[in-house]
Amino acid sequence: MLTEEFAGRVVTWFRKNGRILPWRVGRDPYRIWISEIMLQQTRIEAVIPYYHRFLEELPSLSELAVCDSDRLMKLWEGLGYYSRARNLKRAAEAAVEKFGGTLPRDAALLRSLPGIGEYTAGAISSIAFGLPEPAVDGNVLRVVARVTADPRDVLLASTKKDVTEALRLIYPTGQAAGDLTEGIMELGERVCLPNGTPLCESCPLKELCLSRKENLWEAIPYRAPKAQRRIVPMTVFLLEKDGGFALRRRGETGLLAGLWEFYSVERALTKRELPEYLAPLGADMASLTDLGKKKHVFTHVEWHMHAYRVRVSSLPQGFSLHGAEEIGDSLALPTAFKPFYEKIKKAV
Ligand code: SF4
Repeated sequence: MLTEEFAGRVVTWFRKNGRILPWRVGRDPYRIWISEIMLQQTRIEAVIPYYHRFLEELPSLSELAVCDSDRLMKLWEGLGYYSRARNLKRAAEAAVEKFGGTLPRDAALLRSLPGIGEYTAGAISSIAFGLPEPAVDGNVLRVVARVTADPRDVLLASTKKDVTEALRLIYPTGQAAGDLTEGIMELGERVCLPNGTPLCESCPLKELCLSRKENLWEAIPYRAPKAQRRIVPMTVFLLEKDGGFALRRRGETGLLAGLWEFYSVERALTKRELPEYLAPLGADMASLTDLGKKKHVFTHVEWHMHAYRVRVSSLPQGFSLHGAEEIGDSLALPTAFKPFYEKIKKAV
């Protein structure tokens, strides 16, 4: 069971040991929101330059609400999970419309905005507004599961819900609320390590921790084995015409929604099969260049790609031509296609 002593120890530890990070200067809800979205699945060190660049270009929620979508995608390029950037803009538009251009001081209202779920609403509420709202991520689940020696699967929604409720009962208000949120996360990241032996001797929770007492840290947190990723073989064509390359924007939903893509076929085509797919485009097979193979891993899918550059006289439906420079400067290309783009850019 979690106690107020747990909360007090974490807050004291954080005030003494917490790292100085750009989004910890001041308690501006907009800045905290942007940092929290960027930090989901990306390391702190990698986020810092993106964070500065983003806020230099879009320093306020109202500027984000009216920014150009391609510019936004470009600012996000490399962070992955582009739907998060799209949701930022949609949420900013909604906040302008419904809340006068600010984020609401209420977790339920925050959750009504696109892309703001339990975790982000809890982080903004506690860190920016000092409300007693937990924000439970993987670090928090690990620390709590270990302290309480909870044997349940931490990936289950029911476990997360129970941990959130247990924390809510002991959450302080004011500055301590934010310090507890950031403190548990940082403790999970730096002391109660995800991979490798936790640094129990440096942990402020060592006297309370049941996993330490019973030497359970290898078994907890428990995770049920994951389903295997789906492998998608893919042949990618960098179709070239009049000095430009054929691209189209992906649909508004699904994997890599709204980003730009080259023409591709979800099959590993042999060289003998290529003309069959390229002949309708008036392909000049003499110009065909093999750009090699790459694998790109997403959460549930792996793309096994083989790419070719080829000159054509017409484009597939829905595609338009773009110069190599334009692609680099203003179109958001998924990381998966970047190695092939880099090859053509060098060769242009
Ligand atoms: S005492 Fe060890 S296992 Fe327990 S919370 Fe601290 S670091 Fe984690």
